Amino acid sequence: MQIDLLDKFQGCLLGVTIGDTLGHPFEGKLRSEIYSYFDDFEEFRHNNRRLFRTYTDDSQLTLHTAEALIKGNGFNIDYFIREYINWLDDPPIGPGYGCISSIRKLKYGVHWKEAASNSGGNGTTMRIAPVGLFYSKDIKALKTTAIKSSIITHSHPAASAGAVVIARAIAFLIDKDPETGFSIDEFFDVITTSISNSQEEIWEEFIQILNKLKSNLNIPIESGLIKFSQAGVKSPYFIEQYLGQAFVHPYTISTVICSIFIFLKRLTSFKECIFELATAGGDSDTVGAIGGSLAGVYFGLENISPDLIKLAKDNKKILNISEELYNKYKRRY
Ligand SMILES: [Mg+2]
Repeated sequence: MQIDLLDKFQGCLLGVTIGDTLGHPFEGKLRSEIYSYFDDFEEFRHNNRRLFRTYTDDSQLTLHTAEALIKGNGFNIDYFIREYINWLDDPPIGPGYGCISSIRKLKYGVHWKEAASNSGGNGTTMRIAPVGLFYSKDIKALKTTAIKSSIITHSHPAASAGAVVIARAIAFLIDKDPETGFSIDEFFDVITTSISNSQEEIWEEFIQILNKLKSNLNIPIESGLIKFSQAGVKSPYFIEQYLGQAFVHPYTISTVICSIFIFLKRLTSFKECIFELATAGGDSDTVGAIGGSLAGVYFGLENISPDLIKLAKDNKKILNISEELYNKYKRRY
């Protein structure tokens, strides 16, 4: 089968927005609480449309990343900084501390090296999808761009590792056909290789957690989320009260691990996958956005139902930005 790459670009960015929109009302809630609201999520969504009216910072920053790549014809730090500063005028919806604090400093002219926060939060991974798409044919540039785009706001090594892993996963999935599937072994090989041999302790720890995830793929979603919700989180950031519960921590490693876990557990359809991601518990909107980028690029726009496309606010704008990014990519590769 011939893969339609424009369809994959559009599916990916729309996947971010749909996951973010569906997860937004559940941000900061335990998975057990979320599942007490409904027996059938589809029915709940139809009866509570007002809850799912907008996406949040995850999608906003993803779209600004896409704009920066389009305007700069690839990575150009000035366009990235400008686009992230423009985000302050959107205005930001539910931003994380790492992003908002550093981008405000950038706005006031502080050099990015001083402006970047030492946050290991998932704020840079949530916006990385366009980098994975644009550099899907140039893995070396994909990795350097994922890191460079990350350290503008987050100097913590976990943040850049998460960005590399998700960008690499997107590049892997872009030419896969959901009719025939893909090799889980190959998927893990590719993403762990993307951050191996780094001399960076946190990156090595990330690889170990990815290996642990791989050997735990057979456990049910609820148990897996309980196991990995706070993977890699260190004191004083560990949330004691949520120990033994499904509540995904906003730390990059735990968010990325849980997003990949749910994605791999629900390869049945875009809808099943995105519903499961958005109801993860804890940082649900970001799990929806990051996992949504994987589900979106894998299934492609053609496998996203019209009602879910309609759910994404500004869907026409998102489809247009995806197409512009695709056109830049096509001219370059
Ligand atoms: Mg958010």
